[in-house]
Amino acid sequence: MTTGDTGSHRARYDRIVSAIERACADVDDRLARFHRSAIAKVRPDPDLLQLGAHGRSPFGVWYADRKGTPPVDQPAFETLVALHEALLNHIALIAGRAWKDTRVPVEEYDALLEKVRAFDDQAGRLVRAFQAAISDIDPLTGAQTRQVMLRDLKREVQRARRSGSPGCLALADIDRFKSINDGHGHAAGDAVLSAVSGLLIENLRPYDSVYRYGGEEFLICLPETGPEEARRVLERVRERIAGQTVALDTGSSLSVTVSFGLTLMTPRRPLEELIDRADKALYTAKQSGRNRVEVWRPEEVRAAEVVRDAP
Ligand code: GH3
Ligand code: MG
Ligand code: MG
Repeated sequence: MTTGDTGSHRARYDRIVSAIERACADVDDRLARFHRSAIAKVRPDPDLLQLGAHGRSPFGVWYADRKGTPPVDQPAFETLVALHEALLNHIALIAGRAWKDTRVPVEEYDALLEKVRAFDDQAGRLVRAFQAAISDIDPLTGAQTRQVMLRDLKREVQRARRSGSPGCLALADIDRFKSINDGHGHAAGDAVLSAVSGLLIENLRPYDSVYRYGGEEFLICLPETGPEEARRVLERVRERIAGQTVALDTGSSLSVTVSFGLTLMTPRRPLEELIDRADKALYTAKQSGRNRVEVWRPEEVRAAEVVRDAP
């Protein structure tokens, strides 16, 4: 199991923001060189005049490596790339014309400014969107934050009310985590925390969500999934985690297990009550020996079982 891949979404989004910012700086530099050449009538740099500059530019090269993969396969990103390509070609044509001809038609210059504006607007929109996504991710674990969780869960409850097909909610808590911190140090604890979170995220389905609920507790939302299916999914994740070891920087490795409390997101119940049900089921999982998935059941059922099982 790797421990270095945590917060990977965050790191990837950071790199995307940097790439867009570099592209903007490159465009500014090309525009400045074009204006210098046109106004002072000095020969433009040869690279400024070449068509297809996008493909050779740092942004174009960066994009070619990632083309078709998320999240740069989104239409909004493809629009930015198309605007960059068109803008660099326009700069090449107008820079050549300004050097050769005595006068460039004003419409052509206005069209260039329009392209600059469109590129800047799209770049700004994307940078803001990726920065917002970065702040929604917990830096240590790569899971989503509690703030996002509350927003998403409210939406999920509303969706279930409309569609009549509720999902499930689970709390996952690392077993005996305090003893990992105590026995191996806080840094090892952090490595385990981020590795477990990575395994949860990787082994759940793409439409499930993982949020950092507290210190070493995660809340998992499984939309449009009944308790039996949710239990199967969580059992699989639980086994995967239990079957691996976490490699520590010190060279040693640790086994770690996780307990899960699961409940159906009954749409008419308040969110707090649903989380409380998952917490009660988690408590039962801990009481029953840990490294297991428990489903919440009403008190009466449990009480009836106690009476039935009594000697
Ligand atoms: P149980 O099996 O009953 O869950 O036992 P536990 O030891 O996991 O439970 P407990 O709640 O007693 O301990 C949780 C520990 O998690 C205590 C706290 O110091 C540690 N912890 C919380 N957040 C972090 C963190 O971000 N990093 C590290 N290294 N430790 C953390
Ligand atoms: Mg805990
Ligand atoms: Mg714990």
